[in-house]
Amino acid sequence: MKYVYLFGSDIAEGNISQSKVLGGKGANLAEMASLGIPVPPGLTISTDVCNLFLKEKKISQKIVIKIEKALNIIEKKMGKKLGDLQNPLLLSVRSGARISMPGMMETVLNIGLTSKTIPALIQKTKNEKFVYDSYRRLIMMYADVVMEKSKQKKNVNIREKLELILDNTKKKENIKNDSDLTVANLKVLITKFKIMIKNNLGEEFPDSCKTQLWGAIEAVFKSWNGKRAVQYRKIENIPNEWGTAVNIQGMVFGNLGKTSGTGVAFTRNPSNGQNDLYGEWLENAQGEDVVAGIRTPNPINEFSKTSQTKKSTTLIESFPKVYKQLIKIKKILEKHYQDMQDIEFTIESNKLWILQTRTAKRTGEAAIKIGVDMHHEKIISETEVISRITTKNLNEIMYTKVDPELEKKYSPIEIGLPASPGGAIGRIVFTAADAEKWHKQKKPVILVRHETSPEDVQGMHVSQGILTAKGGVTSHAALVARGWGKSCIVGCSNLHIDLQRKTVVVNNRTYKQGDWFTLNSSEGYVYDKKLKLVKSNFIANPSFVTLMNMTDKFKKLKVRTNADNAKDALLSKNLGAEGIGLCRTEHMFFDKKRIRSVQKMILSNDKINRKNAIMELLPYQKKDFYQILKTMAPLPVTIRLLDPPLHEFLPSQKNEKLIGTLAQEMGMSAKKIINRIIELFEINPMLGHRGCRLSISFPEITEMQVEAIFMACIKLMKEKKNPNPEIMIPLISTINEFNYQKKIVTKIAQKIEDKYNVKLKYKVGTMIELPRACLTADAIAEKADFFSFGTNDLTQTTFGFSRDDVGSFIQTYFDNNILTEDPFKTLDVNGVGLLIKQAVKKGRKVKENLKIGICGEHGGDPRSIGFCHDIGLNYVSCSPFRIPIATLSAAKKCIE
Ligand code: PEP
Ligand code: MG
Repeated sequence: MKYVYLFGSDIAEGNISQSKVLGGKGANLAEMASLGIPVPPGLTISTDVCNLFLKEKKISQKIVIKIEKALNIIEKKMGKKLGDLQNPLLLSVRSGARISMPGMMETVLNIGLTSKTIPALIQKTKNEKFVYDSYRRLIMMYADVVMEKSKQKKNVNIREKLELILDNTKKKENIKNDSDLTVANLKVLITKFKIMIKNNLGEEFPDSCKTQLWGAIEAVFKSWNGKRAVQYRKIENIPNEWGTAVNIQGMVFGNLGKTSGTGVAFTRNPSNGQNDLYGEWLENAQGEDVVAGIRTPNPINEFSKTSQTKKSTTLIESFPKVYKQLIKIKKILEKHYQDMQDIEFTIESNKLWILQTRTAKRTGEAAIKIGVDMHHEKIISETEVISRITTKNLNEIMYTKVDPELEKKYSPIEIGLPASPGGAIGRIVFTAADAEKWHKQKKPVILVRHETSPEDVQGMHVSQGILTAKGGVTSHAALVARGWGKSCIVGCSNLHIDLQRKTVVVNNRTYKQGDWFTLNSSEGYVYDKKLKLVKSNFIANPSFVTLMNMTDKFKKLKVRTNADNAKDALLSKNLGAEGIGLCRTEHMFFDKKRIRSVQKMILSNDKINRKNAIMELLPYQKKDFYQILKTMAPLPVTIRLLDPPLHEFLPSQKNEKLIGTLAQEMGMSAKKIINRIIELFEINPMLGHRGCRLSISFPEITEMQVEAIFMACIKLMKEKKNPNPEIMIPLISTINEFNYQKKIVTKIAQKIEDKYNVKLKYKVGTMIELPRACLTADAIAEKADFFSFGTNDLTQTTFGFSRDDVGSFIQTYFDNNILTEDPFKTLDVNGVGLLIKQAVKKGRKVKENLKIGICGEHGGDPRSIGFCHDIGLNYVSCSPFRIPIATLSAAKKCIE
């Protein structure tokens, strides 16, 4: 087994395909080295060693020798040696899992500084301040990561204690930035640090390079099982067995003075996808200074400027040559990785080093633009674009935005950096623990922090949005929030948080825990009000439109919509719907003006009155269908005849006023009406007098609805439109029910055809939403023009519980593995899908080209759509805002 891999300075023993063994970071470093990108030489210890170490609690002698041998080679490449008294080498030791887990595991920098190497390095660099600054950084990191956390010392919190010493020194010396500390300050600090460490951790800070190195390696391995890494893996579904690699690299220094610096850059804008380098940098600093949000970083170019950094010096201005080189590297990396990268760089005495590259996290808007742009730039194919875009990306561009009308009315109390776009509304809390507590009580929260740290992830995850006082667009909060598509604003320097009192003061106003805030994180605006969120205008986004057109080229399944009015129909058409798969007609009956006629129809006990009552609805229905069919023509519109249970129309027995009015209008006594209501009462209305059963007892309903549909068609045909109705009989369980209803449809059609001397174009099919209908699908197919699976009812009737029941017991079912999937969300062949699959087979055996679709909620669920594709359905139908997701899922399935 090869446990150790070298990279940098013309060696690259690994490559990108080995991220399983080398971790993402190690694999990328090797890959970059092979591209000729300036990477400081180093070695990667494989994830296998991590797993061995976590099992055996030690690194075997064989592996130790391998690491030492590799280290010798690095020393030769760098012309420096660990612990050398002429030219000492310093090392960084970093974690690196198979996929990036930002900030969740440990890093130790500046390893190799001891009482012996310090004078040597001062001699070599002629920069005493740099050396002592590096040493105090080493002590702070090492004490925290190796001496405290990896040894699981409880309640010491050495990092905080050391930071307090640092803060106090700065206060006393009247110093703002760490980089302004003098050598004398640093020396005093270091002495104080060492005493604090000895007193609190019970051991001396190690003065041996080797002890430092092995301590750091083991600590990084152990951090794989640290609390926050474990939590993060749970949220992100990352398997515990993966383990982390360790990357040991020769240190290069961004803190050697004014000709040095460090930064983070995205090869494109991670918020909106614009194709310009985007990032931040700091002069005379080490990498963690940028990410930790301790100093507010400068923008690297004009595109990276924000309202707060308008006047800051950019990297182009300070290091024009380095910037040019970065642009070159951006192109090489994007071409090579065929994706947008997130790179860390350091400039040591004017020389650029790339420390890391990885696929950058991005918002949905950016993901779509970058995918489409990269295709136009001939970097990736259309299929690659489609495979990369996730349903989450689409969700992100479609939802959450603060209502712009409301925003006009109020001024933001603060403007921060828009770190992850969207909108969020919630009550403010100041700790991750409170966020979790409030979330459990079902209260939406906005987590307000100075800056977030990996310890906060759980609380961040449950928050609607995140707001920080410090940090830039590459800070921890920003990175994590963007990855989740969560609204986040950082760097709000006017926020003064008092953790003790749980308050925040903004411009002299105090807000306490529980107050409502709204974030417009696309702009960075913070409001001290509960505004409203609205859907975004993504339909006009050109990259979105291009993406949708691309998907059309690949997908086989058609995507229809569930819509029951002209407005939704039009919206759906604009979103790419290829027809209506379910037009529920009950909403048309529930309308305030119309329900009275329906009630009269149900309550009357003679046929004539009943017919009169129902015919009052005809003109309304005709108009409804006219508008919908017109909007969709010539696309098909599946109109389902009236479905809901009878009781939904009936007035309550207690509603004396309504009963009185009905009694008067119908010439019946109130008592008779109440008796009729009692007579019609059902124990289980969902399984009772509804669907085709309702229309069999009241055929007038079918007659009226069908007449309205065909009259609408006649009007449209006169207008030279091409209406395409598909009449759907709901809830049949026997073929006889279907036949009975179909006969009414054909009778009315015939009557109208004769009267107007036209040939009507229509289909009559059925919903399959009862198990018996699935089992007798062959018989039904002989008579029906199409099937549409109503999986909402079919799931209830198959499993024997309703969608509304699920919440109360589903967790117990999951906990005990009785269910592994919510059957109302996802269809598969182990559940209701099995019935559907058999019904499709039976139906197509009789009618080879039987048109079959699905119109239950599953029609908008990506995995269920995959299943529908597999079993050969013709279309899925879903609510308008699911159309893009359904379209994408259908195309992805074909590409797979
Ligand atoms: C269904 O049962 O899946 C269906 C679409 O009908 P409804 O939800 O209206 O009962
Ligand atoms: Mg149904």
